[in-house]
Amino acid sequence: MLIDLNEVLKNDGKVMQTDVMPEMKQFVSKMGTFPIVMQQPVSLNIRNKGDRELQITGRTVLTVRIPCDRCLEAVDVTLELLFDKEADLKKSEAQSQQMLDDQAYMEGYNLDVDKLVYSELLVNWPSKVLCKEDCKGICSICGTNLNQKTCDCRKDETDLRMAKIQEIFNKFKEV
Ligand SMILES: [Zn+2]
Ligand SMILES: [Zn+2]
Repeated sequence: MLIDLNEVLKNDGKVMQTDVMPEMKQFVSKMGTFPIVMQQPVSLNIRNKGDRELQITGRTVLTVRIPCDRCLEAVDVTLELLFDKEADLKKSEAQSQQMLDDQAYMEGYNLDVDKLVYSELLVNWPSKVLCKEDCKGICSICGTNLNQKTCDCRKDETDLRMAKIQEIFNKFKEV
């Protein structure tokens, strides 16, 4: 979704207030693809600071479905995103690569709301997602979700280790 900024750029000090519904249905990143299950409109306040610079502030709330770090069950995580950006259109015109990266949400004299939401989501991405605080995770051997049922793998593993230690201990005694 693009917002035409020509109007706000006409006069220094001009303010544009708008609510926009982003078109993002999923969040795709190096971490994977995550469905966006709920999204509120993005309320934006765009102010012309003069000298072709814009102050862009705004807020939105969205819910992303992310697998639990331990058991991989889907968890709906609701995030509040607060924007506060300064866009310099003189830089956009210069089109150097670094400037473009900084202001990837600008497309000429248009603001790309989806790209803006994307970059904020990337910055605000939760470092840890758990379905519940005491999630037991999945067994690394048989893949059983240990929140739902138990398995015998861990016990066997311990028995095996104990047997080895016992073996070494016995050898030691024989010497
Ligand atoms: Zn979990
Ligand atoms: Zn197991």
